[in-house]
Amino acid sequence: ARRSKGSAPELDPVRLAEWDHAHVWHPFTARDWWESREPLIIHAAEGVELIDLQGRRYLDGVSSLWCNVHGHRHPVIDQAIRDQLDRLAHSTLLGVTHPPAIELAKRLADLAPPGLTRVFFSDNGSTAVESAVKMAFQYWRNKPDPEPDRTLFMTLGDAYHGDTLGDVSLGGIELFHAAFGPLLFPTLRIPTPHPYRDPQRRSPDQVRDHCLGVAERLFQTHGPQVAAVVAEPLIQGAAGLLVHPPGFLKGLRDLCDHYGTLLICDEVAVGFGRTGTMFACEQEKVIPDFLCLAKGITAGYLPLAATLTHERIYNAFLGSPECPKTFYHGHTFSGNPLAAAAALASLRVFEEEKTLETLPPKIAHLRHRLERFARLPQVGDVRGVGLMAGIELVENVETRASFPPAWRIGARVCQRARDYGVLTRPLGDVLVIVPPLVVTIADLDRLFDALEAAWNDVREGRA
Ligand code: PMP
Repeated sequence: ARRSKGSAPELDPVRLAEWDHAHVWHPFTARDWWESREPLIIHAAEGVELIDLQGRRYLDGVSSLWCNVHGHRHPVIDQAIRDQLDRLAHSTLLGVTHPPAIELAKRLADLAPPGLTRVFFSDNGSTAVESAVKMAFQYWRNKPDPEPDRTLFMTLGDAYHGDTLGDVSLGGIELFHAAFGPLLFPTLRIPTPHPYRDPQRRSPDQVRDHCLGVAERLFQTHGPQVAAVVAEPLIQGAAGLLVHPPGFLKGLRDLCDHYGTLLICDEVAVGFGRTGTMFACEQEKVIPDFLCLAKGITAGYLPLAATLTHERIYNAFLGSPECPKTFYHGHTFSGNPLAAAAALASLRVFEEEKTLETLPPKIAHLRHRLERFARLPQVGDVRGVGLMAGIELVENVETRASFPPAWRIGARVCQRARDYGVLTRPLGDVLVIVPPLVVTIADLDRLFDALEAAWNDVREGRA
């Protein structure tokens, strides 16, 4: 490690690296990998670039953690947070209220699909989904003609909805979730609608119909026990950027309607323009019963989440002293004023910079670069929706056999991409491309050029 001469003692990279290795427990991080490397210490950021302690700049290819929207240090959002800081950094929504949360609830209700007028704030994506799950469960018990048998949740194969035990119960990613098996509640599982990994290599439409057929059979057996179906719309992010066949979400909504149950859409990753529309469910004209939002809600600045639902659900929580029906769930930082101010500023930026209208040429260019990448050797699949894409590297393109996990191909490619000035984090051997929505065409070229070079280096033994 080099010691940068000019830096203050508290920013001494060597000491910070030592302290990191001595004291920080990093989330979702394999210890052997992390501890065998010098940590990359991000110290500053500007627009679509992150800057390390030594002043090296990296294009932020994954929007920090799929959350940055308008770039880092956007002047409008920075100023909104400063202004809010001069008034109130924190209060609570338990028993009192405050203007930023009130205004944000109103703005979200106006923006969301029709009817989702009630906004429950929390402070991260996991709690946004956990709240929806608990609300749905309690709704069936609270409503005037209760259906207490509705205790089962139906979710997708490879589902990821967060890390609380409720969310882990919904989850279907062996690597993340299996360790907690004995602690989890049972779920009904629809197979992952992912054509590339379909054992029979059926067409996307056939895969969709097959998965919806399984869901229908689950309903035929367990229908009156299903409290809700939970799904990420259009694309399953953490599962490896798995794009659903068109019509799948609509098919789920139709099944929920037919069997009289609720649909929870987890838009934690895909909300706020990521897929090209403000919310992903709009693309299939689906209105969920719960819409879970986080990540991009504050443009990636501060922790905040929202669970939106309609008045029928909310009204089932109106109790009396004799019969309390209160939703006993909430967090100290639910709806934090600084975060709500950032979220309001982000929505203003969406309007002022016409962010959504700038996306189509960028999405088209990203597609073009994905298709170009697909021509490189050992690229099994490229896929994506909007500005959210994955490149799956495989050992054998014909058989679609994956590389041995111990080779850590994805991690090595991303490590190498840093040398070319691009920061991304893979999901196994899927390279992840989730840049801030403000990226330019030139930024996308820089991102893909770096990934192509990094893949060539790893494949040819140079990295
Ligand atoms: N749902 C989805 C679809 C996600 O991608 C994530 C985070 N990657 C979560 C929930 C959990 O959000 P958080 O990390 O803020 O708890």
